[in-house]
Amino acid sequence: MKIEFKKIGFEPKKFQLSKNGIEFQGEFKKDKDGLVDILGNIKNELNVTCDRCSKEFMIKLDENIHLKASDGLYKGHLEEYDVLEFYDGMIDFDEILESEIASIKLDYHICNECEKIEDFEKEF
Ligand SMILES: [Zn+2]
Repeated sequence: MKIEFKKIGFEPKKFQLSKNGIEFQGEFKKDKDGLVDILGNIKNELNVTCDRCSKEFMIKLDENIHLKASDGLYKGHLEEYDVLEFYDGMIDFDEILESEIASIKLDYHICNECEKIEDFEKEF
C-alpha cells in the first residue's frame, strides 16, 4: 500500500493492511515539521527462532509503533522517533511493516522450554 505525500493532510487518516497474516493498522497525518506522523499497531503471530536452541516457534505480536516518514532526505534531527525516508514521493506501508517485522525477528527470543531452563538456572 502506497500513499502519496502530497495527498496527506493534517487531518488523521486511517490505514490498514496485512501481510502474511500480520495485521498493520493505525493512522497517519502530516505534522508541523512537514513529516508524516504514523501511529500504528502490528498484531498477530510471528514465527521466530529461539536464540538458545534455534527452534522455530510462534510469538504473539501486539506492537505499538510510532514513527515519522520524510518525503526525501531528512536533514533535521529527532531524538525520540525513527524517521524513515522515502524517495519516490510515496510512503510505502508494506515496506514499513516489513522492516518492523525484520527488526522484531532480530530481537532476543527464547522458546518456552529454554525459558524453563533459564528460570531453573537462575534459582541456583
Ligand atoms: Zn529454545
